[in-house]
Amino acid sequence: MIVFDLTCGNDHSFEGWFASAADFDRQQQATQLNCPLCGNTTVHKGLQAPYVNTGSAPQAPQRGKPAPKSAAAAAQYTNIGAEVTRLIEHLIASTEDVGNEFPEEARKIHYQEAPERHIRGNASREEVEELRDEGIEVVAVPVPRHLMDKPH
Ligand SMILES: [Zn+2]
Repeated sequence: MIVFDLTCGNDHSFEGWFASAADFDRQQQATQLNCPLCGNTTVHKGLQAPYVNTGSAPQAPQRGKPAPKSAAAAAQYTNIGAEVTRLIEHLIASTEDVGNEFPEEARKIHYQEAPERHIRGNASREEVEELRDEGIEVVAVPVPRHLMDKPH
């Protein structure tokens, strides 16, 4: 299960739950997605804390710097449910934080120049699109700051 940070054509932010990234793409193409606030069907993913799923065993978590978050993004999580919190905690615990090295590290893993593992970190929209062009699976997941900061 993946929770995406979504934005509609009118700049409303909301969350969507999907079985996988492919499930999101399928629903998006079928225009089954619409904004809960205005009904706009132009829905796209936010790209705040992408991670690569390489299908390998998870690595021990590392503490890292939290991704910078806007006030608007932070406000979105004031009503975060326990289930969402647990999902994100699991995600953080099972990925290695590579911070701003994310695009480079994702490439190294993809081209088998680095050990295969789950990583998370920061990337711009352009960087994520470049990775996807190279066939690297990147999933954007919104992670509240207080969870990123939590020590393990
Ligand atoms: Zn909207």
